[in-house]
Amino acid sequence: MPQSPNATFGHNLSNPISMSALGTEQNPWRIAIIGAGPAGFYAAEHFFKQLDCIAHVDVFDRLPTPHGLVRSGVAPDHEKIKTVTRVFDKTASNPRFRFFGNVEFGKHLQLADLQKYYHQIYFSTGSLVDRKLDIPGEDLPRSHSATEFVAWYNGHPDFRHLSFDLSQERVAVVGVGNVAVDVARILCKTVDELKTTDIADYALEALANSKVKDVILMGRRGPSQAAFSLKEIKEMGELENASSVTLPEEMALDEYSAKALEENPDRMTEKTIEVLKEMIGGSKPGASRTCHIRFLVSPTALHPGEDGGVSSMSVVRNKIERSASGRLSSSMTDEKFEWPVGLVFRSVGYRGEALPGIPFREDWGVIRNENGRVISESGDPLLGCYTGGWIKRGPSGVIGTNKPDAVESVSCMLQDLAAGKHFSPTESDIQSLIKSRQPASFSYADWLELDRIESEKGEATGRPRIKFTSSEEMSAALGK
Ligand code: NAP
Repeated sequence: MPQSPNATFGHNLSNPISMSALGTEQNPWRIAIIGAGPAGFYAAEHFFKQLDCIAHVDVFDRLPTPHGLVRSGVAPDHEKIKTVTRVFDKTASNPRFRFFGNVEFGKHLQLADLQKYYHQIYFSTGSLVDRKLDIPGEDLPRSHSATEFVAWYNGHPDFRHLSFDLSQERVAVVGVGNVAVDVARILCKTVDELKTTDIADYALEALANSKVKDVILMGRRGPSQAAFSLKEIKEMGELENASSVTLPEEMALDEYSAKALEENPDRMTEKTIEVLKEMIGGSKPGASRTCHIRFLVSPTALHPGEDGGVSSMSVVRNKIERSASGRLSSSMTDEKFEWPVGLVFRSVGYRGEALPGIPFREDWGVIRNENGRVISESGDPLLGCYTGGWIKRGPSGVIGTNKPDAVESVSCMLQDLAAGKHFSPTESDIQSLIKSRQPASFSYADWLELDRIESEKGEATGRPRIKFTSSEEMSAALGK
């Protein structure tokens, strides 16, 4: 909520940097954003919207490039979603915005450092760690998290060295969220479908040699509880060389799910079920790959073959139960199967990682906060610290969800600023400190140049871009 300049910010005449009121040209509101993904950019956009309080925003990211999951998470064949970066570029073009890539909070900069330069700090580091299944055999070779696979095919510098055994014919993807569908779709697409995307070059080559024939997408609950969206599951029916198949017995809704849908009709869920029903027995003539979309099944163990890697999976049939709170959950039956599978990706959600000195809820994998205001275990606000995005609320929603989320957190920041609850910085420009701690940092101008080079290289081969996947390659391209 915008604040009136005189009434709210004029209190701070004793600010150590300047004798002017806070939020003016002479004494701007200084904010550090940790994490340059959509959540960080939407917050920056909202800071700049406060016309009566002049903000200077420095954004830090441990990667050399900005845009977080838009670059390293959004599927390469979902090019349209990535056009949101134009909005981020516009925010970054504000002269009061700076980007410091390759600079890691907790490694190059500590909370105590930032307090000397900024009034407030905004943590938007996302949730990059995968959740585990906690079943025997989960750590066998050829059992991976979807997080790793997604980051690998998107050219994330920390994951480029991984390899996945795509000589296996049968792959299981555990979970039925949008990430699981992304993984299944990439595995089912032909090289012709992928070669017009910005998928990492090494991944394109590996996928071109893939021997995968069957991908099993496994939901522990029924079709009406699937977490994927309608658009994403429709795409599975439109693949060039792969059929998507469902089973009639798994498409018949159990009594609780049918009742829930009757009591709370939901057009999206109904449409999703329709699309899934159209896939019953639906094998496409000539298709060489099949995605088996299965429901009410859970893996209970992974087993090694002679080479020590996954070769089969124990699976149990589930049924739907209704708890006292009304939640429909899955519970195991006695029906068991053994499925031969040579590669497994678990895609059962992400969680965030704790940051040094910042209160964290281990059970939820998020920074401990109230509407974006970081709080201690006893509930007291941590002076000057705020959070937004997945590390605030958990891994939910689409990119745009981060916009209202940022507005909520920034409102708390404005309220606290007006109440004089903020750090009192004694230093004005962090640039020389960064140079001394991380000489190889990247600016937004560097990114725009990398973006230009990547796009130019892509244009020559009919692709949106050819990605740099290491900071060394990026430095070399910039002549640093
Ligand atoms: P998600 O939407 O939360 O889905 C997680 C899936 O894992 C659910 O099907 C969940 O089933 C299942 N699961 C959890 N624990 C399990 C277990 N122990 N055994 C078996 N299954 C288990 O998470 P996500 O797919 O990682 O996506 C994260 C967010 O990013 C979502 O908001 C998603 O929509 C978004 N995203 C969007 C796009 C897009 O718009 N194209 C693309 C990618 C991601 P239950 O429901 O039974 O718990």
